[in-house]
Amino acid sequence: MPNEEKIKGVIERISGPLVVAKGMLGASMYDVVHIGEIGLVGEIVELKDDTASIQAYEETSGLMPGEPVVCLGESLSVELGPGIIEQFYDGIQRPLELIEQAAKSHFISRGINVPAIDRAKKWKFEPRVKPGDTVEEGDILGVVQETVVVEHRIMVPLGVRGTVSSVQSGEYTVEETIAVIDGSGTTHNVQMLQRWPVRKPRPVARRLPPNVPMSTGQRIVDAFFPIALGGTACVPGPFGSGKTVIQHQFAKWAQAQIVVYVGCGERGNEMTDVLLEFPELEDPQSGHPLMKRTTLIANTSNMPVAAREASIYTAITLAEYYRDMGYSVALMADSTSRWAEALREMSGRLEEMPGEEGYPAYLGTRLASFYERAGRCIVKGRDGREGSISVIGAVSPPGGDLSEPVTQNTLRVTKVFWGLDANLAYQRHFPAINWLSSYSLYTETLDAYWNDRFDDEWSGLRIEAMSLLEEEDQLREVVRLVGIDALSREERMVLETAKSLREDFLHQNAFHEVDTYASMDKQFRMLRTIVRFHHVGMDALKKGASMSELFNLPVREQIARMRYLEEKQIDQIDKLENTIKEQIGALVPTGAASAGVTAFKGGEQNENVA
Ligand code: ADP
Repeated sequence: MPNEEKIKGVIERISGPLVVAKGMLGASMYDVVHIGEIGLVGEIVELKDDTASIQAYEETSGLMPGEPVVCLGESLSVELGPGIIEQFYDGIQRPLELIEQAAKSHFISRGINVPAIDRAKKWKFEPRVKPGDTVEEGDILGVVQETVVVEHRIMVPLGVRGTVSSVQSGEYTVEETIAVIDGSGTTHNVQMLQRWPVRKPRPVARRLPPNVPMSTGQRIVDAFFPIALGGTACVPGPFGSGKTVIQHQFAKWAQAQIVVYVGCGERGNEMTDVLLEFPELEDPQSGHPLMKRTTLIANTSNMPVAAREASIYTAITLAEYYRDMGYSVALMADSTSRWAEALREMSGRLEEMPGEEGYPAYLGTRLASFYERAGRCIVKGRDGREGSISVIGAVSPPGGDLSEPVTQNTLRVTKVFWGLDANLAYQRHFPAINWLSSYSLYTETLDAYWNDRFDDEWSGLRIEAMSLLEEEDQLREVVRLVGIDALSREERMVLETAKSLREDFLHQNAFHEVDTYASMDKQFRMLRTIVRFHHVGMDALKKGASMSELFNLPVREQIARMRYLEEKQIDQIDKLENTIKEQIGALVPTGAASAGVTAFKGGEQNENVA
């Protein structure tokens, strides 16, 4: 829009991040504006006649009523193109490094207009189409090696179709034309740089059901509370419960090619930690830094709340762009509670009717509109490529109270809940995901996938292992009330197996070179071995085997060490099955084959079991 046509209003009043301007007739909801002489970035969040309520994405101190407000006539958008990966952005996609530099050299920190994507950098573009080809939206025109591990696919912009009239390989900046497409009557000069409004989901060709797992190499997650590709999960994070470690583990090991991390820290140093830690992480899959396939969006505490509100939309739009290229993207948001607080603050300033705990009544819808953008799908483009966005949202409920509105509204839309438990962390049981309170609504759908791979044995093992853990919980209660002597030999066996499940399977040391990751092949074998020991052991107990001898068999040490076996050694786990049979078999009294359990019950009740 030419300059003279822009709608110009004047500031009427300012209240923190909220600016009210008059004379804005013709502006639309969610239009971006420049506020004041300094030109702070803001977005219209309410319109009444010619009065616009604007949320400012920068500190508003010093602004005065009477200063101008210019409407840019477009909604809050992100820039899309090579250069996003490895970048650190703020909530409205300004590169943190550049803001810092600009702020230092000019002694101002606001109203800085820095491009999200470097305009000067040249990228080597290799076409995938030739002149004369017909193309449609989403088709891949060519590629650029964005980082050592990410091939950036330049797509025909949405809404464009026609015949390629020119395209050439070469070094281009993001603003130079890389291809010309002749549509019916219109000519499109396509650049690598594209824009997209953040509050509008990018369209896809077709959505797919969440029936493919996104394995993470973390046993408690993959085996018991799995997330599907394109799935959504909620993880509460009491301080010190291992939330950061879990997020790092997912970023490193989850089956996702691109990681988008959005951090809303309350205290400045929370975000600083992330900014310092992420670049340090190595990508175990490529050996390169993890940042080579990561983009980071950070809201530090000194940025106004409104930028925090926008940040999750900025993040998911970037995720959608890489999904559209045909990648699986993992988006991690930490913490959405801080995001919701920003929403609450803005709503308060707009004098909206407060809902539960002061959050606006639309908290739930807003959360849903974010999580709904996750999913696995066939993206636009005629090659039928598949892409996905899986979203893991952390919440930080005050005092660990999960009944508060942000957690509740999140649980309503997400399909997985990993209940991080401060008590488990205190006992140094990591990952501190509570197996009794966590759930995944994908488990049964994904069973089909794993049963296919593991000869229909998978779901049976999973269900049996979980019911042993649940039974353990009840038995421990009995023990607490009346003591261990009240338990039968079979019940003691249940406790023993559950302990093994906890210590040898669920517990996983993120810092151990081998234990840090377990393939599904390994997880399956580990689980099967523990459950086999249980079956064979139970049988032997019934036939009169000694409980203490059974529980102290040498093979148990081998079971405990399964987690440290490298992936190439996992056939050793299969061999344990024979060892189990041999060692336990030797404990069964000869001639006891048909002996019933009652004959032996009681005799060993007080046996001292280590
Ligand atoms: P939070 O982010 O929730 O405050 P952290 O992720 O920083 O907590 O974890 C706290 C500490 O717990 C870590 O420094 C580490 O020692 C331990 N820890 C957490 N998860 C694991 C794990 N999977 N394996 C081993 N240690 C862990």
